[in-house]
Amino acid sequence: MNNKTYDYLIVGAGLFGATFAHEARRAGKRCLVIDKRPHRGGNLYCEDADGIHVHKYGAHIFHTDNREVWQFVNHFVEFNRYTNAPMASYQGRLYNLPFNMNTFYQLWGVTTPAEARAQIEKQRAAYAHIAEPANLEEQALKLCGRDIYDRLIKGYTEKQWGRAATELPAFIIRRLPFRFTFDNNYFNDAFQGIPIGGYNPLIDGLLEGTEVRLETDYLTHRAELDKLAEKTLFTGCIDEFFDYSLGRLEYRSLRFEEHRLEDTDNFQGNAVVNYTERSVPYTRIIEHKHFEFGRQPHTVVTYEYPDTFAPGKEPYYPVNDERNSHLYAAYREMAGTQPNVLFGGRLGQYTYADMDDTVAAALEMARKVFGQ
Ligand SMILES: Cc1cc2nc3c(=O)[nH]c(=O)nc-3n(C[C@H](O)[C@H](O)[C@H](O)COP(=O)(O)OP(=O)(O)OC[C@H]3O[C@@H](n4cnc5c(N)ncnc54)[C@H](O)[C@@H]3O)c2cc1C
Repeated sequence: MNNKTYDYLIVGAGLFGATFAHEARRAGKRCLVIDKRPHRGGNLYCEDADGIHVHKYGAHIFHTDNREVWQFVNHFVEFNRYTNAPMASYQGRLYNLPFNMNTFYQLWGVTTPAEARAQIEKQRAAYAHIAEPANLEEQALKLCGRDIYDRLIKGYTEKQWGRAATELPAFIIRRLPFRFTFDNNYFNDAFQGIPIGGYNPLIDGLLEGTEVRLETDYLTHRAELDKLAEKTLFTGCIDEFFDYSLGRLEYRSLRFEEHRLEDTDNFQGNAVVNYTERSVPYTRIIEHKHFEFGRQPHTVVTYEYPDTFAPGKEPYYPVNDERNSHLYAAYREMAGTQPNVLFGGRLGQYTYADMDDTVAAALEMARKVFGQ
């Protein structure tokens, strides 16, 4: 028996930290979970706007092919039948995504898969002379031709990256999947949905019976917190843990503009509408009630704007270019010199991970550590 109050200090009450905390508790470990934010759930956190669960850090749709993960999360919450079927808006016209027979009908009036294939081949043929695409624009034109590129790819991609498509590397788009069925389901996974009641009940279920302290920043209370536990799981930014001693890892950020509308109960008729024109500054509008088929008399919409990252802003997407990959590898090496600290989650491992992969990674780490 050790003489510390806790076996584990878990920094971060997001999905990774909460899943690990659940498994640790099952293994009989005493855990303290801390988070610097005033709420649990990390980026899954939902705020209740009179019955509408507002995804405060960007729209989150649970989808997975991993049966173990699906069964695991279903222990804590029931999922609804939400299927992600985003729309794209370009110059006042609407198109279905992902690219499928509905999209091809909207673009060209074609009604059969054979007609759609022929039209795509015709569009691509104009760019067959490009042997080695020099940039993202050339790559996309070679893969899908002018119509799809101009209306559905160019502006959206340029807004996301903050650069002209001709200045972006070709490898960003490796392939463009086309679906020759009338199927608007964005994901191909076997399981999909939104937790009934939003994501907070999932996190509450995972953290049931575990002590949680909010508004507690590990880095400002490090000395006293380290004294409390034998081991630490850190799910914050790995470069921050090491005081940026090797330099800062870069991220892309987002800015959200939220509006509660009382004069309509249905603003756009769909949870997700992407805006694919460059001249429209936001990339998409989320109408949260449609994730849960809400019937409230009001609605809440969030406009999502890509944003450059700077200290103080939320780090959303890692920039996996050469510089950052090398820098992360160096921090990983430093992490290896900390026998009592585990690094996990999207920030601790400087990676983009969907929720199912986050749960799978946390379960895997717990299995390794606790041998369950
Ligand atoms: C915009 C966006 C949309 C997404 N949409 C989807 C989707 O539709 N479907 C899907 O499957 N996945 C989606 N994801 C991925 C999903 O958000 C992640 O899988 C998940 O949030 C990872 O959980 P985490 O615990 O690793 O990180 P986080 O949720 O970021 O949790 C980390 C926690 O650590 C805390 N923390 C950090 N530093 C400290 C510190 N020093 N002291 C105390 N606390 C600290 C933070 O406050 C935070 O609460 C999306 C991601 C983004 C960015």
